[in-house]
Amino acid sequence: MKLTFASGNKNKFLEIEKIIPNKFQLGNLSDLNFFDEIPENEDSIERNAAYKANFIHSKFNVNVFADDTGLEVQALNGRPGVHSARFAGIECDAEKNMDKLLFELKNAENRTARFKTIIALVINKKFYQFEGIINGEILKSKKGNNGFGYDPIFKPDGYIESFAELPIETKNKISHRAIAILKLIDFLSKINKS
Ligand code: IMP
Repeated sequence: MKLTFASGNKNKFLEIEKIIPNKFQLGNLSDLNFFDEIPENEDSIERNAAYKANFIHSKFNVNVFADDTGLEVQALNGRPGVHSARFAGIECDAEKNMDKLLFELKNAENRTARFKTIIALVINKKFYQFEGIINGEILKSKKGNNGFGYDPIFKPDGYIESFAELPIETKNKISHRAIAILKLIDFLSKINKS
């Protein structure tokens, strides 16, 4: 079964490629000669994921899934959440986003946070969603060089290392995206049989 992942993020594609079984042929947007950014202007993670999957499906009529992720920090009432990518403004990058978050939590005792991924799937013209959540906390400084985004300041519960210190294989077993992808794979395996 051929399935397009509607994202230009190479790190995410590599993570997902390692998890998804070979029986699913994973394609990306460049296979469709699509190199633009898909807008992410919705007001929730769920709606952003849905928009991206529906956008590619309506343009190319392919089976497609898209993900959207947010980092939800308890002391900030769930911020940055759906705004995680542009937390530090339009001209931001991962470093600036992390710096802003560390600054906002400078005096915070409660550093509880969670990553939430929603995967939206359009297959055979039907729409489905899958959720993955991992709980943890925001460290006081950046640690590690693996991964991407907020990984250096997020420590998952049950570990002493940040996501960026853990081997990619470990992150791939426990992460928000891995949990959502495993739900997606389980679903696809069932419909592939029927
Ligand atoms: P998006 O899902 O690509 O829109 O990601 C939203 C924001 O969360 C971006 O700033 C990403 O860098 C960040 N992000 C997404 N997934 C991860 C992850 O697995 N670890 C760390 N940051 C992530």
